Amino acid sequence: MAVSDHVDLNGFIEGVKRRNPGQPEFVQAVQEVAEDIFDFIQDKEKYHEAQILRRIAEPDRVVSFRVCWQDDKGNVRVQRAWRVQNNNAIGPYKGGIRFHPSVTESVLKFLAFEQTFKNALTGLPMGGGKGGSNFNPKGKSDGEVMRFCQSLMTELYRYIGADVDVPAGDIGVGAREIGYMFGQYKRLTNEFTGVLTGKGLEYGGSLIRTEATGYGATYFLQNMLKTQGKDIEGHTVVISGSGNVATHAAEKCTMLGGKVVTLSDSEGFVYDPDGFTQEKIDWVKDLKNKRRGRISEYVKEFKTAEFHVGKTPWGVPCQLALPCATQNELLGDDARTLVANGCIGVSEGANMPTNLEGVHVFKDAQILYAPGKAANAGGVAVSGLEMSQNSARISWKEEELQRLLQDIMAGIHASCLEYGTRPGSKIPDYVKGANIAGFKKVADAMLAFGVV
Ligand code: NDP
Repeated sequence: MAVSDHVDLNGFIEGVKRRNPGQPEFVQAVQEVAEDIFDFIQDKEKYHEAQILRRIAEPDRVVSFRVCWQDDKGNVRVQRAWRVQNNNAIGPYKGGIRFHPSVTESVLKFLAFEQTFKNALTGLPMGGGKGGSNFNPKGKSDGEVMRFCQSLMTELYRYIGADVDVPAGDIGVGAREIGYMFGQYKRLTNEFTGVLTGKGLEYGGSLIRTEATGYGATYFLQNMLKTQGKDIEGHTVVISGSGNVATHAAEKCTMLGGKVVTLSDSEGFVYDPDGFTQEKIDWVKDLKNKRRGRISEYVKEFKTAEFHVGKTPWGVPCQLALPCATQNELLGDDARTLVANGCIGVSEGANMPTNLEGVHVFKDAQILYAPGKAANAGGVAVSGLEMSQNSARISWKEEELQRLLQDIMAGIHASCLEYGTRPGSKIPDYVKGANIAGFKKVADAMLAFGVV
């Protein structure tokens, strides 16, 4: 066997920790993947010799830059922003941009690493990247957000391009921010290309991109339940978050006959014992996207609902759970509570919402548990379809895109089953399945390129 720190999992993780001090989220993401990959590559010399895992866990590059902008009072404000280009073995870097005060280089490196596997799972030609800034859009005027987005793009445009790196939205970056960034890119380059996805329909966006992540996570849950002869219909569903992913997951679960009883934000969660109807979900979308309000306002409008300040929703008894807010929002004890309350299926709309301890609780309990890199890949899949439409200068019809999204999610599910079977159990290990299927595709492409 070649001399490499692939030889021993603990040694490998120690090396990752040493090389990435103060980056716990990145180390956590690498560790979760490495636990499965080590088993898989144990008897596959070619991956060891080429140090493939070590190379995937070292971003191609990380660009860090200052973003200056002026607030409405004329004060000069300074933010930090990054673009992490993790791996482009199978296509241009692709991954969202996040605006949130919690954004650090570690968070973006973990997201870009995860994105590399997720994008491979979609079957579309996209590499992995991620970007963002510690800018907090909450409470900012449209003018302030516009000036910030323009200033950020004035630097970022040098590193991206339709065949180089194609960012999209994420936490804090929706249609408004994408519009401002695309407008500035177009102005700086005098080019109209599909350099960002999640664009407005008037200027090259794709139908169903907005819905795709939440809908896709629900389709994945449906696929998992089907393997056990079950369905979403008639089950109680707990969802965290109240942004793009959460509201669309709630919408699709409701359409499929599930009873969604919670939504949340960083201030607490709402419990609606009557369940969220389409009308109520539309009200939340309007609250979040137009009025830019807080989920606590829901209980003023819908009187039978309760708001639980500072709490997460995992204590509410349910059969199905979709964490759709942020990383590490579901901890070991939360996972134990869900299992004890009879939860049979968890589909992650968010990226790495369950911490490592929680992942092990779900795995050990042998419930249906889909990691974000598989379950929330619907968003980037439709982004990939947006790139194809932009390159061909065409727009596909909604029915076609809905069908493609369902096919892609079913394909990801099948890939997870291929590599995630668990001897002696009817419940597959979706984490292992997703990690290995994603790794294999990227790794085999990297092998073809030699040492680069
Ligand atoms: P949004 O900004 O639309 O919504 C984020 C939601 O999560 C808000 O309700 C927000 O509440 C809540 N949230 C954010 N940070 C925290 C926190 N620290 N604690 C509790 N709640 C928090 O983002 P998206 O819906 O787009 O993204 C949600 C998750 O899905 C992220 O993990 C993202 O990476 C992932 N994802 C998104 C995709 C997409 O297409 N948009 C694609 C794939 C994954 P508050 O307003 O209080 O901050």
